[in-house]
Amino acid sequence: MGAGLSGLYTAMLLEDEGFDVQVVEALPRVGGRMFTLDHDGGYTEGGGQQIGASYARILDVAASLGVPLYAEAGRGPSTAHFLNDQWEAGAFTVPQFPTAFQSTPPSSVLFRLLASEPGFESAEGWLDAAPELDISAQQFLTQRGFSPDAQALVERTLNANSLETYSMLNLHRTWQLYQQSGGMGVSQYVEGGSQRLPEAMAASLARPVRTNSPVASVDVNSTYCELKVGRETLRSTHAVCALPLPALRRIEGLRSLANSALTEAISDIPYTQILQIHMQSQAAFWDADNLGPSMWTDTELERIFADTGRDGSLTGFHRGWINGLGVEPWVALGQQAAPRRYLKQLAELRPSTQGALTPLAYVDWTETNPYAGGAYYHWKPGQAGRLARRMSDPIGKLHFAGEHLGILHTGMEAAMESGERAALAIIEG
Ligand SMILES: Cc1cc2nc3c(=O)[nH]c(=O)nc-3n(C[C@H](O)[C@H](O)[C@H](O)COP(=O)(O)OP(=O)(O)OC[C@H]3O[C@@H](n4cnc5c(N)ncnc54)[C@H](O)[C@@H]3O)c2cc1C
Repeated sequence: MGAGLSGLYTAMLLEDEGFDVQVVEALPRVGGRMFTLDHDGGYTEGGGQQIGASYARILDVAASLGVPLYAEAGRGPSTAHFLNDQWEAGAFTVPQFPTAFQSTPPSSVLFRLLASEPGFESAEGWLDAAPELDISAQQFLTQRGFSPDAQALVERTLNANSLETYSMLNLHRTWQLYQQSGGMGVSQYVEGGSQRLPEAMAASLARPVRTNSPVASVDVNSTYCELKVGRETLRSTHAVCALPLPALRRIEGLRSLANSALTEAISDIPYTQILQIHMQSQAAFWDADNLGPSMWTDTELERIFADTGRDGSLTGFHRGWINGLGVEPWVALGQQAAPRRYLKQLAELRPSTQGALTPLAYVDWTETNPYAGGAYYHWKPGQAGRLARRMSDPIGKLHFAGEHLGILHTGMEAAMESGERAALAIIEG
């Protein structure tokens, strides 16, 4: 169940070995967190898009299905920073930071600190992390002289929910993967949008994916698995649950079958909350005020990315991107009012955007999205050592896959890695 990368890859591998496979998907589309929104004159990405140079399975599947990729062009557009009540187009000072960091963008502080510290030597090193690498980002920054005000700035656009519940293990892991793939080439993107890859994977399967079919409950015994979809009961010799952990909370019967690690994971592993407001520009507001087209702000607007196309030029699409605890007021406004309020506040902050941007979409990767519950998982301090090795254990003939079960990778490639592991367990089992 689940037609994201992990579920589709499991299905492809099982079919290759002669299994008769049916993928069941809650939404009317395939792709899950690979989500491309088509608009007049182009598209925007709501979910995953950057394919790392070390993503061997993604690269292999894209090549074998004829899905074209293109390489990242350059460093992207310049970013205007709004900090302490003023815009800074170029160099800026963050007086809240310790002296050596006052010209470091708040979004780069944690990586800059990590770069000079010992971390993991291998991709799976995080499984046995030393306790001093598995502390919260809050504790880490406090130890290095960052005041609560300085930490609030780092937290504003952290790719997680809060400094307090974010283990530095996550960042050490990302840093290790980044270093490991250095020299392997640049990142790539799917031509025409990320969702084209899972769509091609789905199209390669013998049986069409059954969309609009949320699985409501599971049951497992020694000979078969039973899934309830609406009034129907689907019975199979094996099943693979390729859903994010928050979506598993809604599957009736699962927690009573799960081992203690999976039960704790389902209830407790945090998923980064993200809300996006997609917009289109009618005028080059960045030329009008000579500030960059992308923005980092210390306000509740958080960040705005100006999208670029394959040649690196601006596409005219922009994505407001709010992370973590900051999503709450926007979620409370809801999908009709939030984009309007977002543009209004932006025009007050940056007058050149007044009338220059039109809202296109509201993309919800928060708890209110029942089939995702968040954008991606991260470990709280102390969780990984206790849960990572055991939460993927099958329950009889019910196996698990998904981004949260990758050991050697994160993101899309973790989804593929976990799908491969589930398929192999069934094939060998
Ligand atoms: C905003 C954002 C940016 C990202 N950026 C990157 C990036 O640049 N690079 C990168 O590598 N990764 C990135 N990722 C992460 C990457 O997209 C995911 O790791 C990957 O797509 C997850 O695949 P999955 O199969 O594990 O889960 P999903 O894609 O979530 O698939 C699960 C599927 O299960 C379905 N489902 C849920 N509940 C049920 C149910 N009850 N019954 C049936 N079906 C159900 C869902 O609808 C979904 O289709 C990003 C993610 C987001 C959200």
